[in-house]
Amino acid sequence: MTTPIDRSTTWPYEDGEPGEFSYARFSSPTVAEAERRLGELDGGHALLFASGAAASTAVVLALLEPGQTVALAEGAYYGTGVLLDELGRWGVRHVEFDQTGAPPKGVDLVWLEAPSNPFLTMPDFDAAAAHPARTLCDSTAATPLEVKPLELGCDLALHSATKYLSGHDDALVGAVVCRDDETAARLLEFRRRTGPLPGADTAWLVLRGLETLEVRLARQTASAQAIVAKLRAHPRVQTVRYPGFGALCSFDVADADAARRVETSTALIANMTSLGGVRSRIEARARWEGSRVPAGLLRLSVGLEDPDALWADLEQAL
Ligand code: PLP
Repeated sequence: MTTPIDRSTTWPYEDGEPGEFSYARFSSPTVAEAERRLGELDGGHALLFASGAAASTAVVLALLEPGQTVALAEGAYYGTGVLLDELGRWGVRHVEFDQTGAPPKGVDLVWLEAPSNPFLTMPDFDAAAAHPARTLCDSTAATPLEVKPLELGCDLALHSATKYLSGHDDALVGAVVCRDDETAARLLEFRRRTGPLPGADTAWLVLRGLETLEVRLARQTASAQAIVAKLRAHPRVQTVRYPGFGALCSFDVADADAARRVETSTALIANMTSLGGVRSRIEARARWEGSRVPAGLLRLSVGLEDPDALWADLEQAL
């Protein structure tokens, strides 16, 4: 009933030649099965990486050349900009653009995020598809159940599978899903040579997570929608950002002090980072992102707890 966890790092040759699996840095049966399942969901060829950031790094280093430019969605996951800053040392530049409109001309990779974290904007997929450059969409916060980037004209979908896909805050893992086999082959070659892939246990946690993704997301979405409606009506809450689907939202309170008081006053909702797990969590994003976000911005990832209890907790904190 479940995929076995094969922890081997090497397998015997078949008739004197490497078979499908020979050495775990190239691939392993449990990783390959998780890739097959995720590939089916996103409609492409999936490759797992050691984290979402490792997946992003592989895309840049394997598919771009020094001197080329990435157009990154403004307000996308803060860590992606930081990662591109780091890779700037190898000559890959990046510029930011408003993903609700057309990407800038003359760039070599368009990097969308659906929805962006923590601003929760959605990309203009048609405008991105009309751009001559290769297009990637980080659909971590949407999951393939809400957004299938490859069907919307993107060449690559990227996931921090650490979030909804595994879903329980116990697996650090990333994925890239490719539309064409040539790009998948190039990324696989890069991964075989440089080694940033998960072990069998982590891949198995992705398989386990995918079994319940649909029911988790349905419940977490329904709870998030109910909480967003109440946040919108609350006198202490200013802007509420929510794309209408999924379980991630953000909202602003008056200032940094108010945000600190709210995030440290919840009991059921943990004060911690990350998103997409079964446990709800809240945090002021300014601690990581500085002045890029409003000082009073709180990001809330809604989990599987009772929605009335979640609101009661948030309301008393507010
Ligand atoms: N993309 C998004 C949208 C994220 O939220 C994150 C992490 O928070 C990442 C990528 C990076 O993933 P990881 O932490 O698995 O390296």
